[in-house]
Amino acid sequence: MLYRQTPLKKLIAGLSLSFGVLLTQSAYATSQVPSQSVEAEVQELMERVGPPSKVAIRDAKKVGMKDVKLHTLTDSERVKVAAAFASLPTLNRHILEKRLHYLAFLDGIPGEGTALTSPATRKGFYDITFRASVLNESLSTFLTTKEQRVFAADGSDIAVSVEGTGTDALTYLLLHESTHVLDFSCNTTTDPHSRFTEGIWIDPDTMVSHLATSAAARTHFHQGHPIGFGEAVAVYDSLAQSPFVSLYATASQHEDLAELVAWRELMSQHGGNLSIEVTDSQGKTIRHWEPLTFPGVEKRFAEVDKLLATKQYCGTSS
Ligand SMILES: [Zn+2]
Repeated sequence: MLYRQTPLKKLIAGLSLSFGVLLTQSAYATSQVPSQSVEAEVQELMERVGPPSKVAIRDAKKVGMKDVKLHTLTDSERVKVAAAFASLPTLNRHILEKRLHYLAFLDGIPGEGTALTSPATRKGFYDITFRASVLNESLSTFLTTKEQRVFAADGSDIAVSVEGTGTDALTYLLLHESTHVLDFSCNTTTDPHSRFTEGIWIDPDTMVSHLATSAAARTHFHQGHPIGFGEAVAVYDSLAQSPFVSLYATASQHEDLAELVAWRELMSQHGGNLSIEVTDSQGKTIRHWEPLTFPGVEKRFAEVDKLLATKQYCGTSS
């Protein structure tokens, strides 16, 4: 992470490194349009599918991604992006309409996803930049590739795979990223009375002590180092006792919210599910977890439902 000036920039860089996504505060604002029908809103958002900021490209090159370049969407890819916009919860779509500067796709970013975010020259608007190959990636492939970063070979022959159903990687990522735009724009998690942090987060990067000392909170995603695959069962058993829907949700209170909203939507609107499997060298399942049914997670989904059903939120009406 190159930029550490503010917690916000640090966290955006963190999420970006893991997701192959850039989320940057944009240099200037686009004009605000009033709420319209979904179709008109999607059309308006599609007009913002454009080039990434120069700063985003410069920073990608700075960390060795020499061949990074703008991906021009094909007609069928544009259809996919429009469908992903249309499928967002009304609140997320409205906030993008108000706060999204550009959505861009880059070629030349490695499959495991590396990207950086950059300081904004003007606050309040955001660029979202995706690794272009996510346009044709299954959600399971995306999630499993990301999860591998938690583990290191330890000679145990144990493997970890993640299955995500209900939609594709693009739709999931747009849900996740648009929730960041919502959170950053509306202080959803930084509000001192936030129902999404109470009893879980002390500050954006610090959990309450009983969670901070848990195995789930000490992985690569939360300031830890890669661990052996042999420890996977202990880590996911610990996750099952936590309020977090994924290991990535432990990264910060912002990732926690983005993951919670994305998975609740995937479950309720796309009929999707998330499952994690630990297998032995023969491919036989040792253990299996379904995080959307973890008690601590189910309880928090009710708060997500309340948030998404809010008629007036942060200057956005639905
Ligand atoms: Zn994120």
